[in-house]
Amino acid sequence: MKFQDFTKMQLLFQTKSLGNGIYVIQDVVGVEMYLIEGDKKALLIDTGIGIGNLKDVVEKITNKPIMVYLTHGHVDHAGGIYNFDKVWVAEQDIDLLQKHAKVEFRLDFASAYISELKDIEDIRNHMSYHNHIKLLTVCCEDQIELGNRKLQVIDLKGHTQGSIGFYDEKTKTLFAGDACNNSTFLFLEEATSVSEYKETLLQLKEKWMEKVEHFIICHEYIEIPTSVVDDVINCCDMVIEGRASGLEFIIPYVPFQNGRSYWAANGAEHREKIDGRIGNLIYDMDKIS
Ligand SMILES: [Zn+2]
Repeated sequence: MKFQDFTKMQLLFQTKSLGNGIYVIQDVVGVEMYLIEGDKKALLIDTGIGIGNLKDVVEKITNKPIMVYLTHGHVDHAGGIYNFDKVWVAEQDIDLLQKHAKVEFRLDFASAYISELKDIEDIRNHMSYHNHIKLLTVCCEDQIELGNRKLQVIDLKGHTQGSIGFYDEKTKTLFAGDACNNSTFLFLEEATSVSEYKETLLQLKEKWMEKVEHFIICHEYIEIPTSVVDDVINCCDMVIEGRASGLEFIIPYVPFQNGRSYWAANGAEHREKIDGRIGNLIYDMDKIS
């Protein structure tokens, strides 16, 4: 996306129907959010970085009352909360969210990801912020009723302490946030150890993965194969057993660099592993067990 497009305010969000009452919304930094419609309500999963008015976009798709839930508290998922009056998030991620949803933090992060970004004040004018939002906490056994459609909240702790996913019974779809993907970030200070994360994935596999037919993520891809869970469990084992690739991971956003981040599996340059499987993991060498 070019800066010129961005300033025209036409392409701050792109939306697409995935069928069965599910819509994907992509924001200006390329993060995907999802809207799921039931008969009575709609669920918005995540809010992007908060540049432009997401509420307007959502209300063009549905006229049902919207409930907003966050997969976790990171800047690119929680930055847009101020478009809404209330938002649900796991309690363990509230401190993280309050840091990451600040305007200066969001501006700084956006600058690293939108290379054409030149006029910071212009961007600031398109950012939502006010102090009256109500934060509500979500628990891992919660169910979200939308009317003839129910989503189950699932604990996906690892990427952050409060990472959660949402399972849509109607379409057998798991909305996994950033919890498990082709470049799972497990090196930030808010992440768990690799061993603890592996336990989360084993629980996910045991309780849910026989049912899940569609595995939906928020970066680079929309849907990836459900085998990603086995791939990343395998990555955890590689790290724990000292068989990881040794390839250093460099992230363009300086505050997230820690000098101790490595890819679990080989093939990191194009994020396609040489074994042809999709799941991969980036870990902190000081936080393995
Ligand atoms: Zn994240």
